[in-house]
Amino acid sequence: MPDTASALLTALPLASVLIGRNERILGMNGPARALLGSDSEGRHFLTAIRHPAVLDAVEGCLHDRQPRTSRMLTTEGGQDMTYELHCAYLSIPDAEGVLLSLEDITRVEQAGQMRRDFVANVSHELRTPLTALLGFIETLRGPAKNDAEARERFLSIMAAEAERMERLVADLLSLSRVESEERMRPTARVDLTALTDSVLKRLGPVAQARGVELGRNLPEDEVLVPGDEDQLRQVLTNLVENAIKYGGSGGRVDVALEQRADVPGLRGPGARLSVRDYGPGIELVHIPRLTERFYRVDSHRSREMGGTGLGLAIVKHIVNRHRGRMKVESEPGQGAEFTVELPARA
Ligand code: ADP
Repeated sequence: MPDTASALLTALPLASVLIGRNERILGMNGPARALLGSDSEGRHFLTAIRHPAVLDAVEGCLHDRQPRTSRMLTTEGGQDMTYELHCAYLSIPDAEGVLLSLEDITRVEQAGQMRRDFVANVSHELRTPLTALLGFIETLRGPAKNDAEARERFLSIMAAEAERMERLVADLLSLSRVESEERMRPTARVDLTALTDSVLKRLGPVAQARGVELGRNLPEDEVLVPGDEDQLRQVLTNLVENAIKYGGSGGRVDVALEQRADVPGLRGPGARLSVRDYGPGIELVHIPRLTERFYRVDSHRSREMGGTGLGLAIVKHIVNRHRGRMKVESEPGQGAEFTVELPARA
């Protein structure tokens, strides 16, 4: 390949291929070799990238010399990939043809898809209680108009549905707030011993109502970490509530806190909080997905328990904001343990 063309290709950051007027590859840069294989030079461009979008764009550009942009969807090693193609006609003293560049926009596409899924999920979650409310309003206006007993019953179901919507909206707001603050590390000092104690006191009656004994193993002294008290309270509350809701059949939930001089995952001193239940546990396939928004192992059970499917997503973002780590361990049938490690130093 001529020197000027070669220098030009090398300077380009995107995977780029120079295709001559005879449709053969004149040259390619490093990123393009990594993407398409290194033995394509001198061959027809279709042997390197056999894709209709590429064929149309390159042929069109060779024909009318107008730039073109197009998309190429492929699968690489089982993963869906999206590339944006840019074709530009190039005519320099020692080379002429089409400069084809490939930009990997898979992540951008994935982010767009996640946003679409999220909106669809939220709409679905809100629509279910809303449909129930509308149905009961209709019934109360019509067939049950003069039935005092039915009215009482329907009103209490309506209140429960409205509360579900309220919880969902509160969780969505909380998630969006935590996400927008995720890059700002909290600076206040929070005493986890006092915080855990207060959360356990507040949830005592909830546990008792379900016949669950709340075990506690807290140090005598303060365990200080840089943190946001309200958010850490939410972490603890969500984890303990989940353990009671989903693992309550084990009859017991143990909450432990300890200070450690060295937490391997944090490379330094930190605090380790764990919430352990003895319920049905969680199968391994579900564990990596638990912190996804709206992911539930058993959606029927979660809804019945008043869950929004957002609790652990919120926990994950709060822990990330505190530069901590969360780990879930479970052996089905033996219960589950959620551990949060938080660094002791800012
Ligand atoms: P939800 O609002 O549904 O409780 P979470 O995000 O808090 O949402 O939890 C997601 C799912 O993880 C729950 O629906 C439940 O299936 C599962 N899960 C959470 N904690 C436990 C636990 N301690 N034992 C078993 N399953 C759990």
